[in-house]
Amino acid sequence: MLQAHIQQERVHHAYLFTGPPGVGRRTLALRFAQALLCKQPPQPGTMCRQCRSCRYVEATLDTQESLHPDVFVVRPAARAMGLQVDQVREVRQFLTLSPQMSPYRVAVLVGFDRATPAAANALLKTLEEPSERGLLLLTAASSETVLPTVASRCEQVPLRPMDTAALAQALARRFRLEEDRALQVASWAAGRPGYALRLAQDAEAYQRHHRWVTDIPRLLAASRRERFAYAHTLVQTLPRHALDEPLMVWAAFWRDVLHVALDHPLPLFHPGQKRLLDFLALRVPLHQVYDLLHTLHRAMEQLRRYVTPRLLFEGVLLAWPRVRPMLS
Ligand SMILES: [Zn+2]
Repeated sequence: MLQAHIQQERVHHAYLFTGPPGVGRRTLALRFAQALLCKQPPQPGTMCRQCRSCRYVEATLDTQESLHPDVFVVRPAARAMGLQVDQVREVRQFLTLSPQMSPYRVAVLVGFDRATPAAANALLKTLEEPSERGLLLLTAASSETVLPTVASRCEQVPLRPMDTAALAQALARRFRLEEDRALQVASWAAGRPGYALRLAQDAEAYQRHHRWVTDIPRLLAASRRERFAYAHTLVQTLPRHALDEPLMVWAAFWRDVLHVALDHPLPLFHPGQKRLLDFLALRVPLHQVYDLLHTLHRAMEQLRRYVTPRLLFEGVLLAWPRVRPMLS
């Protein structure tokens, strides 16, 4: 669709890339910008990846910093609640200037679902009076998490997780991962290629995910006080933008419990935890598993708004049953 927009010269002035974190929203937005700004596209709607413009965008993909003079990337600051109104004003300023080396200027606003109301309203003005050569690319979890007046003015690009087996194959090919490891990473990522790439390339991200899974038995056996302490440490040590990672890991884990309990044929996200999953599927009543999943998904929603993360994690962990899995 994005290629066709370039080929047919029907490029919109705003796009909203939606999907779960780690599915590849920011990457696709930047690749779109790359194709749009390429100096010598092999075909319209594609990029050479070699010209100066392409190399700048390529570097932006790796470093998170914007190096292209006509591409501006804004994201919530590490400890900030979300995108701030000042950042949107900078975007507006950027878009009013003429492009320096390209036909367009492109602003990428990462995590727009976590924009403050003031920031969202400021952006609305830009959307209502688009600049001739300015393009806005927003990313968000879903269009429902964005101000409806903003979402309705954007061309929507919804991204869904891909098939786990296909993702595992691609990972094994690209990173020469062993089959087991590739399948583990793809399963853990729940079919989200961006997150899978991070797990495959970033040993720390892999260790973190591993820890959230292996901490589960300890958390289940933990007292109220121990769970509060865990929530406190977690919020202290993780940057705000990464706080949804443990929630997603746990949601995938409890979804596995549900699928085991229902004897559902879907592949598990955490096949390596089969004994623990079997234990919980027998031990925890189905309605409680549903409640837990609901609590986790609501927590992910609330994380994008103005909620104290520590309280949110305390609430999530308190909802878990207290059981002592005998797995040794
Ligand atoms: Zn190029």
